[in-house]
Amino acid sequence: MKAVVYNGPGNITVDNVEDARIEQPTDALIRITTTNICGSDLHFYEGRTSMQPGTVPGHENLGEVIAVGAAVVRVKVGDQVCIPFNIGCGFCENCERGFSSACLTTNPPKAGAGYGYPDMGPYRGGQAELLRVPFADYNCLVLPEDAVEKAQDYVMLSDIFPTGWHATRLSGLMPGESIVILGSGPVGLMAAYSARLQGAAKVMVVDRHPDRLRLAESIGAIAIDDSTGPVVPRVMELTDGRGAHRGAECVGYQAHDPEGQERPNMTLDELVESVRPTGGIGVVGVFMPQDPAGPEPMEREGRLPFDMGQFFHKGLTMASGQCPVKRYNRHLMELVREDRAHPSFIVSHELPLDEAPQGYAHFDARDEGWTKVVLKPAA
Ligand code: ZN
Ligand code: ZN
Repeated sequence: MKAVVYNGPGNITVDNVEDARIEQPTDALIRITTTNICGSDLHFYEGRTSMQPGTVPGHENLGEVIAVGAAVVRVKVGDQVCIPFNIGCGFCENCERGFSSACLTTNPPKAGAGYGYPDMGPYRGGQAELLRVPFADYNCLVLPEDAVEKAQDYVMLSDIFPTGWHATRLSGLMPGESIVILGSGPVGLMAAYSARLQGAAKVMVVDRHPDRLRLAESIGAIAIDDSTGPVVPRVMELTDGRGAHRGAECVGYQAHDPEGQERPNMTLDELVESVRPTGGIGVVGVFMPQDPAGPEPMEREGRLPFDMGQFFHKGLTMASGQCPVKRYNRHLMELVREDRAHPSFIVSHELPLDEAPQGYAHFDARDEGWTKVVLKPAA
């Protein structure tokens, strides 16, 4: 099969690799029709993870079931399915509690597995013609009758729409409240979109890329350009001097100031300052336990100086982590099916698989207009 292959930092190619196949009776084999490049793919692209050369990336996958193992009873050949980026088993203690993001059996001794990602188990990704899906009955979201027509909407159920939604849930957002979202990349935009769908009264989105900020405004959020001045005073001004009820971190450990200086704790500090007392902060931007290329010795061990004093003084709460996609994807699918949500508004480019290297390069450079890249391996 053809697949995107990671060869090293800044170096990906589209090569012929061994076909994905059914390995366990609980597997399904998917012919990928739509697969996205994710912002978190840029971490390995930039050499900021321990990803092994030869890995096939891709964890935002949608396609058609072309084979199932003997023990698969629910999912059928011919089904159109969207695959959560988490690989859960469905029967461990954490999966049972709804934390498919912390499955105990699919990547032991760690908690949590995923496709084509460092430290997430031996599973190849879906930026390829074929994908093996373990525990298919648990992991496949079977899509409705409009699956092909709305593929660009439904593919967002694999990661970024649920992840954006999760950020708002972690923050504790209630209808009528305000929320400040740091980062207007795909996940930040999905968090803003989710906050609007959940009835937030005021949604503020911070970024510095005009194309991303325009998209935020297109869904009714207030765009704050942090290249034109500090963020906190503007949030205060927009919230009668009190701060936002809620905050969402959608940037992660490679946060940098408008001059390009990397400051991994910048967004957390801004949230502690701009969320009002007793408010909540949801963190879905990726932070790493080890970051060998980090700017400071502490940060190389995943440690960030953090304003614990203000955090405590204000009685804030913070919750974090990868989204357990299965907690949300079925309901968000119904919002798409009923035309209440169209998360594909962020898609800027649809490319054949062969053009993945160009897609990575433009998305990584944050080139104007490259807001989200969708690959079509079957094209
Ligand atoms: Zn992703
Ligand atoms: Zn499990």
